Amino acid sequence: MSCFVLPERVIKELNSKFKIFLWADPDLKKSYNPIKWSFACHSYEEGGLGIKDLENTNVAANLRHIWDLISSKDIIWTSWVKNFMEDEVRDVVKEISKTEFNISESDQIFWKSGATALLKRLKTKSKLCKWGTISDSTCILCGTDEESENHLFHKCQFSSEICKRLLLKMGIVKDLENSWDEEVNWCAQHFSSAKYVGMIKKLTLNSFVYHIWRERNNRVFRNQHGSQDQVSLMIIQDVRFKMLATKYKETDTSNARAFMRRWNIDCSFVIPEIILCTWLYPQRDEVMINTDGSRTDTAGGFGDIIRDHEAEVVAAASG
Ligand SMILES: [Zn+2]
Repeated sequence: MSCFVLPERVIKELNSKFKIFLWADPDLKKSYNPIKWSFACHSYEEGGLGIKDLENTNVAANLRHIWDLISSKDIIWTSWVKNFMEDEVRDVVKEISKTEFNISESDQIFWKSGATALLKRLKTKSKLCKWGTISDSTCILCGTDEESENHLFHKCQFSSEICKRLLLKMGIVKDLENSWDEEVNWCAQHFSSAKYVGMIKKLTLNSFVYHIWRERNNRVFRNQHGSQDQVSLMIIQDVRFKMLATKYKETDTSNARAFMRRWNIDCSFVIPEIILCTWLYPQRDEVMINTDGSRTDTAGGFGDIIRDHEAEVVAAASG
């Protein structure tokens, strides 16, 4: 409990067991709860039963580890992180953590800069070669070209295949851009939605960067090779677990439902709000034009219609 963020459904299940233990008969069958659970979690001084609130306890227990790291507390945990995790991986974990904790922010610049900033810190083989640290700069994922950021996350046959699979998983059909910078810019423009689907796309980009770099490090430092299937699965599972731990809702559209089915995420949907508009007849010999448009992460559209004073359609257009 102090190492993982518990999914919402796990907390619900555990709370249910606690309630049964507290209020049920010896046969442990579900029974009537005389006190609201949130009230039972209040302290004795506040009139509650002093039961620890699982959700808050879980968050506090996990934050405690981060605080120990930041404050350089002299314990085995901080020593282990400092001694056994390579600098690069630690940086990536830090950036990923930032993205996770700021998941509710709608500022697209934040996660985009998170993805690009961590790349700038990665010590790719081409950089180490320039510094004279190593002499062979060949990419360990494909073994055919020099390992640079642009190659590792974009041109590399190993990574680009995974990238294409993830795009399909997100329902996006497109060719890869000319460079990694252009790819990140494309994502910044198309993953900007603050809704649940948009967050999954942003997390996928960050998770992709993390796992490609992790796979590269596993091969370089531990001689462990993962397949494209295994890395793709880890990226998808990472995103799924992070999203299952959140409580966001998505607008109920056929696209959103298809998206969640593809990702196997059990999400709550809300019915879109219908806005009623009134229409005023124009004067005789005048026409009225009504126009509207909308956009999603991957598409957009508009429509307009021109009517005369008797509401007869004079012209219409859409695109
Ligand atoms: Zn490669």
